[in-house]
Amino acid sequence: MTAMTEQDRRQLLDAEIAGVFPDTRGRFGPFGGRYIPETLIPAIERLEAGLRAHLGTADFERELADELRSWVGRPTALTHARRLGARWGAEVWLKREDLAHTGAHKINNAIGQALLAKRLGARRVVAETGAGQHGVASAAACARVGLPCTVYMGALDMERQAPNVGRMRLLGAQVVPVTEGDRTLRAAVDEALRDWVADPLGTYYLLGSAIGPHPYPYLVRQLQTIIGREARAQMLAAAGGLPDALIACVGGGSNSIGLFHPFLADAAVEIIGIEAGGHGRALGEHSATLALGRPGILQGAYSMLLQDPDGQIQETHSISAGLDYPGVGPEHALLQAVGRVRYEVASDDEALAAVKECCENEGILPALESAHALAGARRWAAAHPGKRILIGLSGRGDKDMPTLQRTLIADIEAGRA
Ligand SMILES: *Cc1c(COP(=O)(O)O)cnc(C)c1O
Repeated sequence: MTAMTEQDRRQLLDAEIAGVFPDTRGRFGPFGGRYIPETLIPAIERLEAGLRAHLGTADFERELADELRSWVGRPTALTHARRLGARWGAEVWLKREDLAHTGAHKINNAIGQALLAKRLGARRVVAETGAGQHGVASAAACARVGLPCTVYMGALDMERQAPNVGRMRLLGAQVVPVTEGDRTLRAAVDEALRDWVADPLGTYYLLGSAIGPHPYPYLVRQLQTIIGREARAQMLAAAGGLPDALIACVGGGSNSIGLFHPFLADAAVEIIGIEAGGHGRALGEHSATLALGRPGILQGAYSMLLQDPDGQIQETHSISAGLDYPGVGPEHALLQAVGRVRYEVASDDEALAAVKECCENEGILPALESAHALAGARRWAAAHPGKRILIGLSGRGDKDMPTLQRTLIADIEAGRA
């Protein structure tokens, strides 16, 4: 990417706020696009046409809104976190995606795409999953709309996330272990794409974050902005104004873009994304794609990613499986490049401390992913006393019990905490 002048930045930001992106080439400024094999082009063009025919129409939006209300449990609550606020010297609000059906924001996207698949006449759905959260959301959404669901999952992840494998199977999905490549999320995405190419008309590929080739980053963003639209209206009603800062965790970037997007035009709102800092800043010790990565092409799009000097994609690390991915959605790469959103990291240890603090002071067990946002918010509050902060609490932490048992709970039981 060539260096941007201040004027370039201004123009790109104005275009982003005006809703120009993605453009007709599927780009967010220099980022995004469609870097896919020839064999996938008909399938993805069909998806784009179908999306244009249905998304935003009164009929589709009515059906989606009804499912979000009666099945997902929306709107999710906005909680005034008074005790955290008193500790941090700030006014703290939590947008509670942990209260959404299946325990995180992922269901917003899964049910939206499952309804779209149905309208496009798909006979089956394929999905990929890393930690299993998107697999569970996809399995549930497919059961709800009555479509068979096949979930590709790295063999290594299946061992690490056994309870989610069981949940997917109970929900009627076929879970296929992927033994190729790194045996984690990246290999599972490749396998799901291969399945889709084999039957592009009958199969719908339900992608789980705001990543991949156009139009997925756009589609997922549109389905997740329900978070920010609700939160913005709830803040105005309950807090009497907009937040001074808006903070969410960033893995592939779907919960964060969903929260951030409806606030981009509010210039007074500072927006901060928190990535997984793991246990160090060297390659392989973190998953901080935006804060520490470089631009390049991964899984169909030009965005920021973690690669070594030879361009090899790097292994990543995070205590939270949902943030453990070497890429990030292209819209975040643009928001960083134009300076509208700042991306920082929180470490494994900071996230664990934030889980404990949130549990003890608010009676909420957050997901380890969401705890990164809490840790980032605590740091921001220390530098900006008395300000109002809205935090995206992307999911609940029940899924993290094996990790929490080895760490926080072991400390409590040993009398160390
Ligand atoms: C999957 C997941 C994330 C990370 O994914 P994004 O696409 O960046 O939102 C964050 N929080 C929870 C609870 C998740 O399950």
